[in-house]
Parts: sequence; structure tokens; C-alpha cells
Amino acid sequence: MYNLTDINTVKQILGDNGFKFSKALGQNFIINPNVCPEMADSCGAGRGCGVIEIGPGIGVLTVELCQRADKVVCIELDKRLLPILDKTLADFDNVKVINEDVLKVDLKKLIEDEFDGMDVYVCANLPYYITSPIIMMLLESKLPIKALTVMVQKEAAQRICAPVGSRDCGAVTVAVDYYSKAYKLFDVSKGSFMPAPKVDSSVIRMDIREKPEIQIENEKLFFDVVRAAFGQRRKTAVNSLSSGLQMPKDKIASVLTECGFDLNVRAETMTMTDFANITKALEK
Ligand code: SAM
Repeated sequence: MYNLTDINTVKQILGDNGFKFSKALGQNFIINPNVCPEMADSCGAGRGCGVIEIGPGIGVLTVELCQRADKVVCIELDKRLLPILDKTLADFDNVKVINEDVLKVDLKKLIEDEFDGMDVYVCANLPYYITSPIIMMLLESKLPIKALTVMVQKEAAQRICAPVGSRDCGAVTVAVDYYSKAYKLFDVSKGSFMPAPKVDSSVIRMDIREKPEIQIENEKLFFDVVRAAFGQRRKTAVNSLSSGLQMPKDKIASVLTECGFDLNVRAETMTMTDFANITKALEK
């Protein structure tokens, strides 16, 4: 078995395969030996469970997941990594690698085909250039998944895990909170990667809610409202909503007044119920 956190071993494997890191694909591989065992321990993977890993790289986290879960399916876009993964995962017969863009995979079908009867978890050190699209796709598809444990940039983690109604809250916070309960597990310094990125990272976990805490009839309009409200952070909600939803300012002002807001209100101070009430009032 390879030691995938030993720098010389990693250099040797990459060199033997003529592999050069792609910045565009967000390739920063973990070389800190403590990170992957801790991620795998905290992601929920165990006997009777299946794990989907996005972007296995050379397999440093995959190995830890294979040791804990019944089955691991990895989705890796970069086909140059496939011959490497063949070697680094050779000791495991409970892993499958799919060479695809995760945003294009039919994950519902994948889960039905690969994880029959198992509890399914996602665990990944995400490529940072598409962190939000991946998280939102996983949540919005309403997949039968128990939890997502992902490494993201520290700043993104702060925003995702912020309480709704706080200064750090953004549209992604509200969306994540609608579908899941998100919390930070631990920080990871930039020196834990090869090559080292410019910023530190955090590992966060999102436990998927069986159903949202508040009932929303028109989810599309609700998320349009949330996106519009946070669209222009320095503006008041009346201005952001008016331009984001392309509705006259006086109409938005009367909706906000009807919902009990002062017209200087900003999106950061609104709660989930506030967004739901605005959505309902706009539907009338
Ligand atoms: N899991 C490895 C680790 O922790 O060392 C690698 C993580 S690296 C931050 C992100 C990985 O995602 C890379 O292997 C990259 O090639 C892959 N990747 C980038 N875009 C992808 C996409 N759209 N679909 C699937 N994998 C992707």
C-alpha cells in the first residue's frame, strides 16, 4: 500500500505518470496525514454504508473511506488520474471510479444502481472553483443522502455555516439551511496541501433534513427572493429585491411593509420565516 501523505512517494507516483497539477481543476492534494482519517471518521461512513467521493485525486481520502465503508464510488473528471488510482486503490475491491464531471452525473440513478439498501454519505475535498454549484446541486436534487462532509475554503465555510440572520449570512447560507443543518468540523491550514493553495480551508458537515423546518409552497419563488435579496449586499432589501426580481420598487416596498419591515431593512438581518413571508406576500 502506498503512503499517499509522504511527499516523496507522491512526487514519485506523479512523476512516473507524467502528471502535472491542473490549477483550472482545483487540484490541491492533501499531504497532511491527520486530515483524511479525521474526515473519514466524521463523515458517517461505516459498515452498511456507501460513500460518494467527488474528486479523489490520487486517492488519499478514498483509501480511508474504503477502509470504513462497504462501498465507495468516486467521480473524477481528470482522466489522467485514472491509471494512478488503479495503482493506489489496487488493494480495495469495494471501490469504483467514474470518469465524469460530477455536475453531469445522474446521481439519483447512481445511488439506486450502486448503493441498494445502504445509507449513503458524500465525503470530498471539493475543487474550489465549483464549491457552491456542487453543494447546491447535491442539496437541490433531494438525493437520498444522509450527510455531506466537504472541505471548502475557510471563507466559504464561514458563510455556509453562519446563522441565518447574521452578518456573514448570504444566499447560500439560507439555501443550505433550508435543506440541511450545517456546522464546521475543523480547520485545515494551506500547508496541508500539495501544491499549497493561497488560503486555509475548513471541513464542514451538512446533515440533510428529512423535511425543511418551514413549509414553503413555491420553492422556486422562495429561492428567487433569497438570491435577489442578497444580490447587492450594500443595498437595502427593497432595492436589491426590486432590481433582482425586476419588480417596481413601490410594489416591493408595500410587500415589505405588509410583512412588518422597516424599509431600511437589509437581507442579512432577515430570518428564514421572513423570506418565507415575503415569498407568500409576493404570490398574492
Ligand atoms: N481528494 C483529493 C485530495 O483530497 O487530495 C483531491 C482533491 S482536489 C482539491 C479536487 C479534485 O476534484 C481533483 O482531483 C480534480 O481533478 C477533481 N475535479 C475537478 N473538477 C471536477 C468535476 N467537475 N467533477 C469531478 N471531479 C472534479
